[in-house]
Amino acid sequence: MDLFNGNEFNILSENVQNCVLCPRMCNVQKILNRSAGFLNAELMFIGEAPGRLGADSSGIPFHGDKAGHNFEELLEFANINRSNIFVTNAVLCNPRDENGNNSTPTKTEIQNCSKFLEEQIKLVNPKIVVTLGGVALESLNYISKHDLTLRDSVRTANKWFDRLLIPLYHPGQRAMIHRSMANQRSDYQFIADTAKNFTKKKNKSYGTIVNVGVVAIINYLFEKKDSFTYFALHKLFYLIEYKSVLKFGFRLTNSYIVRQKDGPYCTELHILKIKKALSYLDSKVLSASNILIYKNASDLFSGNLNGEYPELDKDVKALIDEILLEHGNKSNAALKRTVYFSRPMRNILAAERDNNINLYNTPISFTL
Ligand code: SF4
Repeated sequence: MDLFNGNEFNILSENVQNCVLCPRMCNVQKILNRSAGFLNAELMFIGEAPGRLGADSSGIPFHGDKAGHNFEELLEFANINRSNIFVTNAVLCNPRDENGNNSTPTKTEIQNCSKFLEEQIKLVNPKIVVTLGGVALESLNYISKHDLTLRDSVRTANKWFDRLLIPLYHPGQRAMIHRSMANQRSDYQFIADTAKNFTKKKNKSYGTIVNVGVVAIINYLFEKKDSFTYFALHKLFYLIEYKSVLKFGFRLTNSYIVRQKDGPYCTELHILKIKKALSYLDSKVLSASNILIYKNASDLFSGNLNGEYPELDKDVKALIDEILLEHGNKSNAALKRTVYFSRPMRNILAAERDNNINLYNTPISFTL
């Protein structure tokens, strides 16, 4: 990729400074300057608007107020270097109400500023766009339509405008009610993993098989085999995700997988969750540490006959078939050995050894 022409950015920034499109903001400062970050960034974050105590005060997007502190803490947690990213907002002026407090930009203001947002995206040309909050996500509709909602699509990678779009919640305190800080840390880990893996595969098409969905994968596993131990299900799911990273360059789902005492554990595979999602499944305790998940005999034909779950891409099916062929009939002990020898788990075990600690419940990074 050619190095970005800084002059183009300067011209755009100057045009923004002269903008008078929105009556209530035509005389306020516009926050688009080089502090936005790296002009050739592969990762672009888009917020809602400069905050009164944040960007409008510091001149730097997401810096100086509580939302900025949280944002920076989240970046640091996921080891995302701010100097390598580009940070901007859907509207570039600070909207305030009659009392001088922050207010939400109107649809017209968002639409007015979308031409600048589009220019920024085209100039920086990031491979991944991350929206922070519902307003930022909706603002992208003025550039290229999508049908994503924050609630349904948070922490998922979606094809949009010739790149990936990942919707996240806003890091401000109000959004923490809907998305805890702990959950947001996982979101940023997902961003870091996706960026590192996806940007390595520059020439690889990411097609339509990102964000397949945990239930669709589990449903397919049970199409192929009538029962699995609960232990095996978690380990096989982890191996499927890992193989996807190796083969496609990205994970298939946005599931949260942590290192537990006996290896990888996926929170989305909680036994109650999968039984609720796939009503044909039942379970029985085999021993204190072993549970069998199996198809209910009276419901053997319910599977996916009604097309309830998204049909998996043929490449994804082929990948799962490979995992099942290689590992599907292994004992729990053999499966445990297999996952412990995989790179992501080896990295965690090495960190534990080097620092003489255990890292139980640490998110497993699939970065290669
Ligand atoms: S918000 Fe955007 S469109 Fe509106 S005045 Fe500011 S720079 Fe112009």
